[in-house]
Amino acid sequence: MSCPICDAESQKAYRPFCSKRCADLDLAKWLNGSYTLPSQDPEDLEKALEATEEALGQGKNTQTLKH
Ligand SMILES: [Zn+2]
Repeated sequence: MSCPICDAESQKAYRPFCSKRCADLDLAKWLNGSYTLPSQDPEDLEKALEATEEALGQGKNTQTLKH
């Protein structure tokens, strides 16, 4: 079985996804399900995830790492 987000090999802990990142991306797709994403391109999903993380107030950790 492969990750439905990025097609990488699934990890048991995050099945059917390969990582928490992809599980979060899928969640972002659901949370943003009221509008249609422009494409299934991973970069668009990244943007959707960032927007979702901002909305949830969980994006602080990744922002901090970039300083
Ligand atoms: Zn993945």
